[in-house]
Amino acid sequence: MDKIRMTTPLVEMDGDEMTRILWQYIKDELLLPYIDLKTEYYDLGLEHRNATDDQVTIDSANATKKYGVAVKCATITPNAARVKEYDLKEMWKSPNGTIRAILDGTVFRAPIIVKGIEPCVKNWKKPITIARHAYGDVYKNTEMKIDAPGKVELVYTKEDGTETRALVHNFTGAGVAQGLHNICSSIESFARSCFNYALDTKQTLWFATKDTISKKYDHTFKDIFQEIYDAEYAGRFEEAGIEYFYTLIDDAVARVMKSEGGYIWACKNYDGDVMSDMISSAFGSLAMMTSVLVSPDGYFEYEAAHGTVQRHYYKHLAGEETSTNSVATIFAWTGALRKRGELDGIKELSAFADTLEKATLKTIEDGKMTKDLALITTLKNVTVLNSLDFIKAIRETMEAMM
Ligand code: NAP
Ligand code: MG
Repeated sequence: MDKIRMTTPLVEMDGDEMTRILWQYIKDELLLPYIDLKTEYYDLGLEHRNATDDQVTIDSANATKKYGVAVKCATITPNAARVKEYDLKEMWKSPNGTIRAILDGTVFRAPIIVKGIEPCVKNWKKPITIARHAYGDVYKNTEMKIDAPGKVELVYTKEDGTETRALVHNFTGAGVAQGLHNICSSIESFARSCFNYALDTKQTLWFATKDTISKKYDHTFKDIFQEIYDAEYAGRFEEAGIEYFYTLIDDAVARVMKSEGGYIWACKNYDGDVMSDMISSAFGSLAMMTSVLVSPDGYFEYEAAHGTVQRHYYKHLAGEETSTNSVATIFAWTGALRKRGELDGIKELSAFADTLEKATLKTIEDGKMTKDLALITTLKNVTVLNSLDFIKAIRETMEAMM
């Protein structure tokens, strides 16, 4: 069989620990035998980030701007323990944060649905995709402890020196206060990324805040979404047969529970943080969550939502067998390959991505899976495979389907 040819390279961002091991298995078993794989390789493994003073992360993000599509392996975000473990020059920043800042993107997380792994919410039949605004609010707050009576005010000083003041609270005793902010350009980028991704995946978009209480702050989010939608997207949404609607966050939460899924739920920063954890655990497993960073200019970076699975990696290093789930990392590759196929007009490449996804799901539905899924499946008589054998089983299923 001839290998599928590619015309434009994918930006390949390699990573750390157990996911770096899976990365190579996936390429060797599931991609290289079938595709004349063209990638521009960036090693985001912690050693190489340290050796390049993290320049490699910046270069990989700029390459994503050049080519449009990237696929990323999970990477270590260093903390004090990692600085020691890897003898780092500095506590380098989170690569995801750096890439997100350069691409100005929004992260969309969606569960992979498979028979035998049932969501806790029994009416959820289709994935619920969470879009989290990744700038500001409580994540960039300024806090103060108040220990005695006194007045807390918000003071805005214009460049020309004019002041505007608003009373936060007249304290008669001890308390706490905090200041939050956001910026319109970031909210606009968030809105455009959401509208673009809704069109791209042909899914209806929901957006919800607490604008009834937060009449200026949250209301600004609501207004910006509506203005951009009306001016730039309404026609295209209608053509695509999808909807955009805004509702109060309380109403959204209630509707999510009663829905069957199949839409994108755009959330402010804090809501997205909390709700994505709820959605992913209710759908079954962090190892079955995909994640894609979408920029307002239409660049895409695909990855798994989980981390580097450090505990499994240390077992692997000790020569013990591991059973690490590679599904989300496989879907990062298929997402990127499908998008590359669409952009370059290579139908076989997109079709290959579809087949590999189907083969992955069929392998699980046939009862062959990794340990994390075996623990939660409703299927009977399942076979637990090790990390590599699971990938080989997918290859067998795919060969049979081809
Ligand atoms: P993690 O790698 O997601 O793993 C946490 C636990 O979840 C694992 O120990 C394992 O449970 C289970 N798990 C996660 N993915 C799995 C998979 N594919 N197959 C089977 N089980 C899986 O999170 P972490 O241990 O908190 O973080 C490890 C490193 O990853 C950290 O250095 C962190 O900075 C980094 N991280 C990177 C990203 C990213 O690049 N996007 C995201 C998050 C974290 P059991 O041990 O019980 O089997
Ligand atoms: Mg969280």
